[in-house]
Formats: sequence, structure tokens, C-alpha cells
Amino acid sequence: MSTTRRGFLTTAGVVAAQNAAHGQDHGHDHQAVPSDPALRVKALESLLVEKGLVDRAALDALVDTYEHKIGPRNGARVVARAWVDASYKQRLLADGTAAIAELGYAGEQGEHMVVVENTPTVHNMIVCTLCSCYPWPVLGLPPVWYKSAPYRSRSVIDPRGVLREFGLEFPEDVEVRVWDSTAEVRYLVLPERPTGTENLSEEALATLVTRDSMVGVAKVTFSKTGGPA
Ligand code: FE
Repeated sequence: MSTTRRGFLTTAGVVAAQNAAHGQDHGHDHQAVPSDPALRVKALESLLVEKGLVDRAALDALVDTYEHKIGPRNGARVVARAWVDASYKQRLLADGTAAIAELGYAGEQGEHMVVVENTPTVHNMIVCTLCSCYPWPVLGLPPVWYKSAPYRSRSVIDPRGVLREFGLEFPEDVEVRVWDSTAEVRYLVLPERPTGTENLSEEALATLVTRDSMVGVAKVTFSKTGGPA
């Protein structure tokens, strides 16, 4: 947890210094590991702490919360509830923010939630073309690919092509809708409930729901032997 992150940032500085010295020794460059962003984070954090603007312990607590306490399990519970409770699903689609808050999930980066429903004829996928806006309270922190330039640009240019790379192929008569997140509005996909799950409890259903299915780059699957197919 926080010690690992702290250790990582410390290592980032040491390795970069070593690499720089090594490059001078040999007259050739090695790729700096860890990455530039890690070093920038370290520099920025050191500066903010030095100026007394932030508290290291508070930062660690914040990162720990989003890495370990808040994550896609929250979103999965929302989805499972919608699958078993028709009136909850209605409220969820009408006012995502309020319905999600009913289950206790709210907060930063989730102030204005819109939930979009997948059906046999409509498939929704989420992107943030501008940066990496993502519904933190229900999905946690975004995966690396979500923040990558190719996903952000290609999702709007060629959504079916991107979905194919995730292993999803839709016939032409299924409409693919792409939702572009903003600083104001964050989206959550309500995936289709897989067949064969009629007898599963809400808790069991929640275990089937993956992060990717709620971003719209995967379907929720179920195998008769139990668990995801
Ligand atoms: Fe963004």
C-alpha cells in the first residue's frame, strides 16, 4: 500500500540518477526506468510538501483509499442490484447519481453520474477523449489503457474496431454508442445480465460483473459450472 508507493517514488529518483550517471560513463543513453511521469509526480509532491501545501500522510491515505477501498466492486454491486430490482434499475437509469448514492457510493469524480443500459440492440462504451475522466466512486482508478491516446482517439473514430480488439464483435444491426466523459458527467455502463443466472443471488451476480463490462469493452459472462465463463 502506501509504503510501496512511497518506496516506488524513492526508487524512481535513485534509478534515474543512476541511469543519468551510467549514460555519462558510456556515452550512450539508457531508457530511464521508472517513467517520466513517476519522476514528475515525485518532484511535484516533494515541492508541495516542502512548501507545506500538502501533507504526505494525507496523500498516502487518499491514494490508498482509491487503490484499495474504492474500486469496481462498488459498480458491480450497483449493476447486480439493478438486475434483481426493476424499480431500482428504473431509478438508476433516470438519475444515476441518486440511485448510486442509495448504495452508499458517492463523492469526488462521481458527482454527476449517467448510467447507460446495454440491450440486445444497443451496446454502450465509455471513453474520455480529452484526458482520463472516470467514475471513481463506482470503478476506482482508471486502467492504463483507458488513459492511453490510442483508446481515447480510436474509440470515437472506430469503436467497432476497438471493441474487436477487446474480443467483442457486434453485428451491424446492433447500434454502438460511444459516450465521451467530461469533468462534469461520468458514465457507467449497465451490462446485460447473462442468461442462465436466473437463480443467482444478488451477491453472486455481483461477482460476475467486471470492470471492463462497466466501461463497455466486455460482456458479463456466466458458465453453468459457476463463475464467469
Ligand atoms: Fe478526462
